[in-house]
Amino acid sequence: MPLQIVRNDITKIECDAIVNAANSTLLGGGGVDGAIHKAAGGGLLLECMRLGGCRTGQAKITGGYNLPCKYVIHTVGPKWKGGHNGEKELLESCYRESLKLAKEYNCGSVAFPLISSGVYGYPKAPALKVAMDVISSFLLENDMLVYMVIFDKAAYQISEKLFSEIKSYIDDRYVDRHRDARLERMRAVQMSQPLYGMERVHPQAASLPTAAQKPLDLESALGTIDESFSEMLLRKIDEKGMTDSQCYKKANVDRKLFSKIRSDVHYHPSKTTAIAFAIALELSLEETKDMLMKAGFALSHSNKFDIIIEYFITNSNYNVFEINEALFAFDQSLLGA
Ligand code: ADP
Repeated sequence: MPLQIVRNDITKIECDAIVNAANSTLLGGGGVDGAIHKAAGGGLLLECMRLGGCRTGQAKITGGYNLPCKYVIHTVGPKWKGGHNGEKELLESCYRESLKLAKEYNCGSVAFPLISSGVYGYPKAPALKVAMDVISSFLLENDMLVYMVIFDKAAYQISEKLFSEIKSYIDDRYVDRHRDARLERMRAVQMSQPLYGMERVHPQAASLPTAAQKPLDLESALGTIDESFSEMLLRKIDEKGMTDSQCYKKANVDRKLFSKIRSDVHYHPSKTTAIAFAIALELSLEETKDMLMKAGFALSHSNKFDIIIEYFITNSNYNVFEINEALFAFDQSLLGA
């Protein structure tokens, strides 16, 4: 999965580079900066002393010392001053410049904290949106594994409005499900009562072969086998006029995995991968269910994950990264592979 949101302490992440939300002196501070210097040891501070500071929105790179990463990229986020002082542009620049350095140093993987969202006071939901927007557009052009590290996970990481809309969407569907379950029970009781003057028809009788219909033998039944998941995926990519890379990047799916799916007509994706492709292809709810069925999955109202996916599809929001932010906020698995 090229872009992953994870809950962790960034100093524990094993990857090529971690990004530090530093201050302009680069001489250490509190929050994630303090944690990184503490875990890296004194060598990091000595190297930082030679860098001559760093301007807001810019980035500089050092070694990782005792950290489980090769490099630390130090970037200085903007202080929040109400939002009309170029904060957004400066924060975008932090992510862009850090990714540029990571690329220059041939990093295959990089981990970011939520820059500026601590002591510098940038509100978390818009800070996360800036991060996701810049990182996802970088990943459209570049191959890299990027971790967005959330330290203090709370619902406010996505906007309050989106969170409460999804929450009530989930609540409504759960209510439906319970109502459905009650109806089912009532129906079951009715079915068990004796019926007078009526033949009770077995629910499956309609689909049983009649004498006139010849039952299919196994060989001919197998001859009518449907299009597979990967065949449907490739057909849909063509129909939508997309290139393969546009599709797998939009799906947050790794290039290597996509080649595997492309070359194996019987490939069995995980549910999160199958849905990621349905989202990238902007399929309707019905088409999504069809595609999922080909991979042996369904969408139901019996779990939050499925309802959240349904919420985004019915609202025609096909941004995998936004969906992942919401899934993360509701403690669900993320889309992609
Ligand atoms: P800033 O000064 O840029 O606001 P902070 O370090 O105060 O930087 O906070 C930036 C973000 O880093 C906050 O969301 C905070 O929760 C998070 N954070 C703090 N410690 C860690 C850590 N060890 N790993 C990952 N994220 C962390």
